[in-house]
Amino acid sequence: MRNKLLVLLALLFSVLAAPAQPAPTPVAPFNVEVATRHYLDTLTPAQKAKSDAYFEGGYWLQLGAVVYALAVAGVMLGLGLSRLLQALAGHLPRRWLRTWAYAALYLLATFILTLPFTIYEDYVREHQYGLSNLTFGAWAGETLTSLVLSVGLGSLGILVLYAAIRRTGASWWAWATALVGLFLIIGVALGPVFISPLFNKYTALPPGAVRENILRMARANGVPADNVYYFDASRQSKRISANVSGLGSTIRVSLNDNLLRRCSPAEIQAVMGHELGHYVLNHIVKMLVFFVVLLGVGFKLVDWTFRRLVACYGRGWGIAGPADVGGLPLFMALFAVAGLLATPITNTIIRTNEQEADMFGLNAARQPDGFAAIAMKLSEYRKIEPTPLEEFIFFDHPSGRTRVRSAMRWKAEHLADR
Ligand SMILES: [Zn+2]
Repeated sequence: MRNKLLVLLALLFSVLAAPAQPAPTPVAPFNVEVATRHYLDTLTPAQKAKSDAYFEGGYWLQLGAVVYALAVAGVMLGLGLSRLLQALAGHLPRRWLRTWAYAALYLLATFILTLPFTIYEDYVREHQYGLSNLTFGAWAGETLTSLVLSVGLGSLGILVLYAAIRRTGASWWAWATALVGLFLIIGVALGPVFISPLFNKYTALPPGAVRENILRMARANGVPADNVYYFDASRQSKRISANVSGLGSTIRVSLNDNLLRRCSPAEIQAVMGHELGHYVLNHIVKMLVFFVVLLGVGFKLVDWTFRRLVACYGRGWGIAGPADVGGLPLFMALFAVAGLLATPITNTIIRTNEQEADMFGLNAARQPDGFAAIAMKLSEYRKIEPTPLEEFIFFDHPSGRTRVRSAMRWKAEHLADR
């Protein structure tokens, strides 16, 4: 009884002695829309016009690329270039050698025929907008490296695909989907180890406070510090960028030197929070699953169209059926059209992941103003205020406006935390 009384007294004392609850800090009126507008208006009309022109030109380039691809298919099939390449490859003694040689010649010929478009899109236009740092010689060197990779690995992939198509009959499209899915997985897993170092130098992050803050945030979110890399993207362009790549033991977060050089510590922290989001939320695996499913639908639709076209025009084009490697130009043309039609779907899948990474990044980095500032800097190559329909069809990342608004909404809900 006495003990109970003592406890009661102690409790009473502690209540009396406890410091008074601080009054809630008065929250300044903060309007998300006004704050968003404030950021969006930091872009001058001239900067906005340039950004819009660059990005909107990209819509036409996507359409132009498909029209160009159809024209190349026309040269291959209608003008007989494909027959010529088949005749060249036909001198080889074994069928697999003929298939492989035709595939390699086809990829090479397509590259050469598409070169004017590639030079305009990748070199001339990037320089017009002041986005590229490459001299023509350096650009040509990188393009040749890509060509060697695509002819070397692409022709082997095509060889394996045709071997499967010949053996599997009507269900070939399902087997082809599985095989391309497998190639994709191998490519994603090995890309950071064997492909990326051909174009850039990857090293550990330079020492300093920025490095410590990034690694601290990485460790806090379960990302090993060894998996954070730094690369010299300024070789190619001025673009600020970071990414997550690899699969399983090769997964890593990489940030580029432009980001480190051109951005404030708060901005860098905001970008890295976003990238850690991709890593922690397993976005690469989820994307692979989505894309393999989409690929299956694509192969089935392409198979259906291919059979109908070959029934009508196969004789003139020199295509016997799906198992005939001479049908490769038609397959590629149909895939180019299917890819264009699927753009809103693929963009929405990617954009949804990006939005998730944005939310993760805001919570991990707690730098809403840094994130909003970065969203504005990305207007160099992404239209800042598209219409909702434009954003749905053409945007593989949230627009600047969406991102600034997300950041300001997060800020508004966390004002009392400070
Ligand atoms: Zn991202």
